[in-house]
Amino acid sequence: MNSNRRIPLSRPSITDEEVALATDAARNGWGPHCYDYLDRFEAAFAAHIGVKYAIATSSCTGALHMGLAALGVGEGDEIILADTNWVASVAPVLHLGARPVLVDIQPDSWCIDPVAVRAAITPRTRAIIAVHLYGNLCDMDALLALGREFDIPVIEDAAEAIGSMYGGSRAGALGVFGAFSFHGSKTITTGEGGMFVTDEQALYDKVLSLSNHGRVKGQTRQFWPDMLGFKYKMSNLQAAFGCAQLRRVESLISRKLEIMQRYREAFADVSGITMNPELPGTRIGAWMPTVVVAEHIPLSADELLHRFKQANIDARPFFAPLSTLTWMPPGPTGSHAQSVYERAVNLPSFHDMTDHDIDRVVAVVREALQHAGA
Ligand SMILES: *Cc1c(COP(=O)(O)O)cnc(C)c1O
Repeated sequence: MNSNRRIPLSRPSITDEEVALATDAARNGWGPHCYDYLDRFEAAFAAHIGVKYAIATSSCTGALHMGLAALGVGEGDEIILADTNWVASVAPVLHLGARPVLVDIQPDSWCIDPVAVRAAITPRTRAIIAVHLYGNLCDMDALLALGREFDIPVIEDAAEAIGSMYGGSRAGALGVFGAFSFHGSKTITTGEGGMFVTDEQALYDKVLSLSNHGRVKGQTRQFWPDMLGFKYKMSNLQAAFGCAQLRRVESLISRKLEIMQRYREAFADVSGITMNPELPGTRIGAWMPTVVVAEHIPLSADELLHRFKQANIDARPFFAPLSTLTWMPPGPTGSHAQSVYERAVNLPSFHDMTDHDIDRVVAVVREALQHAGA
């Protein structure tokens, strides 16, 4: 084996089980069986997260778009979310004509700062989106308390938080609704795909109708949309794949935790970097192990990424603040959002990663820090 072979950032774990169920869906999942795997995947996912209802979607972005639409979000509304985010969390807000209010992150959790949320609430605030960034956890107690105090729904974007636990609850089960992604880079995958979850029947019914081109359940007239809806459905083929991934979810999560633990141990004697925090009462799902270089050390994320490239390792930059995108409505950039972005790098973590792969990643970070005089 070439010991310098390319190490990807992420790669799904595919076994005979995924291939068998996808093959079965391809051969038999038609006609009267065209929803069989979808029904199974939704029921199994709802059980895994601990919620009453789940709707499989073509993406997490679609799940967020429909959920926000079902809450009535539209023109003139303000939606609060963190400045540090992937564009998918904010795009549906803009598509609905609402205004994203981007607030700073906590420097330790890299997630939305509840103090900044409180300061940003106005009479136009219609929702708060809590994104569990990289599988880290938002301070849900504080956000849910704000939601109750001001009567504002708190939504969870748990795309990166399969396996993340907040107290006794799984991430995604705490807000008015949760959204998940099964993109190929995520902890469980269907190639592309997502899931909308909620405990509220009225919201479930609304999103179910919206997801079916606005056709209300029980409407007997055919080809009769009762409202303008969306087409964000998952296919039965993808759901079959998802059923197999979900059967293996505990082992997929524990491997993520194991890789994170290996990194933590390897960096235990290294000062000058921190990794994903795990606050008391939480367990992070460790979707994306990330190192943040301390402010006083002269080692930028750009320099570290350059060294990874030289070593044939696919490390990735941290999300840039959304407020710095050229086409975003103007607004201030969070100082922590900018500062962490300049100092943080995502490390590879995939199921079949070897100890040798991990050692190579660790060596790059150690050498870069030594070179910077840390
Ligand atoms: C991946 C991701 C999304 C988007 O998921 P898609 O399935 O690609 O739409 C949304 N939010 C976060 C936090 C993500 O990581």
